[in-house]
Amino acid sequence: MNRPTLIRTPRWVDGHGTRRGDFAVLVEGPGESPTVTAIDQWAALAARCHRATVMRSDAVAPRLVNAHTHLDLSSYPRMMTSFPEFLAAMVVHRRSHPQARGLPAARDGMRVLRDQHVAAVGDVVAREAVLLAALTAGALPGVAYWEVICAHQSASAAALAQLKARLRHWRQVQQPGAAVLGLAPQSPYLVCRDMLQALARLSLSDGLPLQIHVAESPAELEFFRTGSGALAEVLSSIGFAHPPGPGTLGFEPHAGLTPIRYLAEIGFLDASPTLVHCVNVSDDDIQLIARHRCPVVTCPRSNANLACGVFPWKKFVEAGVSIALATDSSVSAHSLDLGSELTAAFERYNDGFDLGLGIEWLTSGASRALRRPIEVIQPGCRLDALTLVNLRVEPS
Ligand SMILES: [Zn+2]
Repeated sequence: MNRPTLIRTPRWVDGHGTRRGDFAVLVEGPGESPTVTAIDQWAALAARCHRATVMRSDAVAPRLVNAHTHLDLSSYPRMMTSFPEFLAAMVVHRRSHPQARGLPAARDGMRVLRDQHVAAVGDVVAREAVLLAALTAGALPGVAYWEVICAHQSASAAALAQLKARLRHWRQVQQPGAAVLGLAPQSPYLVCRDMLQALARLSLSDGLPLQIHVAESPAELEFFRTGSGALAEVLSSIGFAHPPGPGTLGFEPHAGLTPIRYLAEIGFLDASPTLVHCVNVSDDDIQLIARHRCPVVTCPRSNANLACGVFPWKKFVEAGVSIALATDSSVSAHSLDLGSELTAAFERYNDGFDLGLGIEWLTSGASRALRRPIEVIQPGCRLDALTLVNLRVEPS
């Protein structure tokens, strides 16, 4: 790029939100490393740069962040079924293909993200080799969340002691510039109360980012209300044979209980964890989430493919909750492409959803979900620090 280029856009998205107008970014410099040299109103820059090539973009933003995925599942088959059946099928596939979840699959997923120039990733990791690679220099920045499953109170003390020993080792491995270590209790029905409370304390004392799937499917609501239903049947079929109770998962189902209320009551939300999905929530749940300053991650393609419902995004925005848009795994989303996720958000989140908001969720919202600094665009940035968004659908 030897000739100066002006990128003209009606939307400028940064950590402060979306500014609408007629903006331009001037990019200059030799072919290999063109650089942003000015950002201003279109009229001002166009008057200065008569010789510039002009490009147009629906929006200009910093690089995108994928705040929730499972890269080590990238070799699993794509699935489209109800959430409880999905859970059962995942377990069947894991048992019949024990090597499928691992480093080669994670590397495949990582390549896809690098091809999209994402700035960072929130990756839920279930294999130690994948975690060690993510913490090592040269890996994509973000958070590598170690997945925790511990569904019985009686197992939590020993599992916690083992986890703490591993955390000490993993911290020594962690290198600057790579992902930081985090914790991902899988969900409030696969992790018992004592372990959830211990992980929240660990997050607060050691500064470990925390992320959990919660309120994803209607079956999860039923499980907390009654202890039965499709999710209970699947959990039983895959070996978690105990109904929820004080001696097993650590809670008694009752008519007024929701997974979000449960997490608030046991103190888990005091650590302000990032909550993934939150599709099946009450108005009271949303207020609890807002009061505990928990960021929320939404994954519309996964929710659609697993028949979970539609994330009530407007209520979360009105409550002041920070939102991120992410893909989840390629198993339920069917790809790791953030542009496809944004398109899906347009298709499913009507009622005033717009391009600027979606990009905020993919940039500043996603950075908040990972507790990362928000990227900004300023003169001196390289061209590849910019995302030029052109949707296949008509922006508002
Ligand atoms: Zn997930």
